[in-house]
Amino acid sequence: MIGFGGGFDEPVCSRAGCRERATWSILWRNPKIHAADRRKTWLACDAHVDFLRDFLASRDFPLEVVEGVGTGEPS
Ligand SMILES: [Zn+2]
Repeated sequence: MIGFGGGFDEPVCSRAGCRERATWSILWRNPKIHAADRRKTWLACDAHVDFLRDFLASRDFPLEVVEGVGTGEPS
């Protein structure tokens, strides 16, 4: 098969079913299960950053939206 072979290097949106390249990082945690210094990272494309942020915000999870995506950082 010819192609770029998509590896793990390409950041992809965390929205279910979305294969767009991620351009945003959403750092969040669930206060009920995560310690205060824990952060989960979701990646989002331009189309879904609002959806994912609202999804977390509606649950009163502390979150921070950062432009760009880090590389090689496990979430
Ligand atoms: Zn997306």
